[in-house]
Amino acid sequence: QPVSADGPIADYLSDLHFRISRLGGGNVASYIPELAKADPNLCGIAIATTDGKIYAVGDADHAFTIQSVSKPFVYGYALARYGRETVLQRVGVEPTGEAFNSIVLDDKHNRPFNPMVNAGAIAVAETIRGKSDDERVANMLDLFSRLAGRQLDIDEAVFRSERDTGHRNRAIAYMMLNTGMIRRPPEEILDIYFRQCAVKVTCVDLAVMGATLANKGINPLTGQRALPEEYIPDILTVMNSCGMYNYAGQWSYEVGIPAKSGVAGSIMAAIPGQIGIAVFSPPIDEHGNSVRGVAACREIAHDFGLHVFKTS
Ligand code: GLU
Repeated sequence: QPVSADGPIADYLSDLHFRISRLGGGNVASYIPELAKADPNLCGIAIATTDGKIYAVGDADHAFTIQSVSKPFVYGYALARYGRETVLQRVGVEPTGEAFNSIVLDDKHNRPFNPMVNAGAIAVAETIRGKSDDERVANMLDLFSRLAGRQLDIDEAVFRSERDTGHRNRAIAYMMLNTGMIRRPPEEILDIYFRQCAVKVTCVDLAVMGATLANKGINPLTGQRALPEEYIPDILTVMNSCGMYNYAGQWSYEVGIPAKSGVAGSIMAAIPGQIGIAVFSPPIDEHGNSVRGVAACREIAHDFGLHVFKTS
């Protein structure tokens, strides 16, 4: 992906990076053992525009695993495959205020609260088409590769590390088998879910993926459609209300842009019709959000006047 190094946005990002990369606080996620090896000093920021320009600074080309930032995209995939009504029977659109990995379903419908918490994302992962693990992996990678505009792969070490230790997600999957929210063998669904979380991306990739959402589902670099335009508002709405773990309410109050974060330390945001933003820096706060990522997005949203409800 060609990165523009000059101009006011590039200058703005280098200033921002200089300040943000020096911020302390937070800890690298360690509940997936392989993630604990991340270098806490890494810090990258990238912006991609809906007309195909990319601006990037710092460690924007460093590869990390996408983790929960994968969730909005697979939700979009499920909507595209089965439609709103069917997907709504398996996963709601209500924020939880609970931790992302909480073992809880809504008691009225017995379904996960929303597709951004693990329960919802695991239910949604069942919709990835394919008769074998290999076919499902290929289809899942095809989705992410279209979104990023280049062929993406899985970080096998992170995948295995989570598969070997992700018993809490196993508990969630079995609970949903019990309530009929998933129908296929939990291990089969967890296999694709853990692999989906272990897709290797860079900050530039995530910015392009955000720009694809901002561009009504068409990747602005390749011109290829990755998701149907019809479901982009669904995706952005749940990102807005549920994308930042149990900090989502305060995030939309203060920063006011639809975003999703992941425990490897990335945040991706999408501003419809304008840009995708991505920040990567491994130390995360008590909610699970990258400390430097939150700070960088807050500044970008303020400086570019991006808060959806602020008109001046
Ligand atoms: N694979 C991680 C899990 O299921 C994703 C968590 C996240 O990024 O929020 O625990």
